[in-house]
Amino acid sequence: MAGKFSPIIIGSERSEAGIPAAMEILRAGGSALDAVERGLRYCEDNLQDHYIGTSGLPNARGIVELDASIMIGSSRAFGAVAAVKNYPNPISIARKVLEELPQHSLLVGEGAEAFAEFLGFEKAELLTPESRELWLKQLKTIPQESIEGENTKATSGDERYRLASLELVKRMAPHEGPWGTINIIALDQHGELVCGVSTSGYPYKHPGRVGDSAVAGAGNYSDIRYGAAACTGRGELALRAGTARTVVENIRAGQDPETACANALLEARALPDDFRAELRCLSLTPDGRHGGAAGMEGSTYTLMNEHSTAPEFHPRRAL
Ligand code: ASP
Repeated sequence: MAGKFSPIIIGSERSEAGIPAAMEILRAGGSALDAVERGLRYCEDNLQDHYIGTSGLPNARGIVELDASIMIGSSRAFGAVAAVKNYPNPISIARKVLEELPQHSLLVGEGAEAFAEFLGFEKAELLTPESRELWLKQLKTIPQESIEGENTKATSGDERYRLASLELVKRMAPHEGPWGTINIIALDQHGELVCGVSTSGYPYKHPGRVGDSAVAGAGNYSDIRYGAAACTGRGELALRAGTARTVVENIRAGQDPETACANALLEARALPDDFRAELRCLSLTPDGRHGGAAGMEGSTYTLMNEHSTAPEFHPRRAL
């Protein structure tokens, strides 16, 4: 029997690898939780995508570390894992944290891996030959002067090493075209609103670095009363500004989803940050309204509803 809500699903750039499979679940009357998990698993398994799951770009040690989270709007239950190595589908581990460890919300590193092992999740090598090649190529193109510049020549080897590592992080600029984390938000026919986020985080990040994607209120937030929101891009800004929660608070204050996203981004952008890179967000309300914003022209988000035959691409408001 059909429920009283029209199912709809939205996602960030590149979520189209998973949105159609997620929509199948919603069309069949399934839950938003199942749809979001399935959609993100497709994205995590997409070897062409180097910012999430298997083939994600590695940290400064050349090791892939993944963050993911999922949040249910009616209960605001939240499950997340961060800095997870060797498990290709962190979104499914995050869901299990939510369902089977209700006394906790976020597991990191070894503890998250032990939990995944206990549950029988399959391990896998996450660094593919192609992502390793990309990683090495970028390391090789760092100009020598960043390592042997005026300020670093006279210092000891250890200090030079640290300075060079900092330079690596500073130089970690996104390539042309869509990049970053994938967000998927779904509303099911029963009116449940679920938001999921999965990422390999910033390439060349410090080992153990966790971004906004695993933190409720920063990169992921869902509250059935007002809406759900998620971020991609400069995670440290979203962490500092609480951007996903700010979007939802803006909706609560009466703003439409697109304006709510744009104002939340403006607030994050006002913070001082030497490593500034693009931050984007998108939002879906429990009555099916949606919108997104980004710091640059040409950004889109993906949408499917009951009538869609293929993913549709909607423009985000450019700031
Ligand atoms: N938000 C992600 C993070 O900070 C990065 C991204 O979207 O590219 O880990």
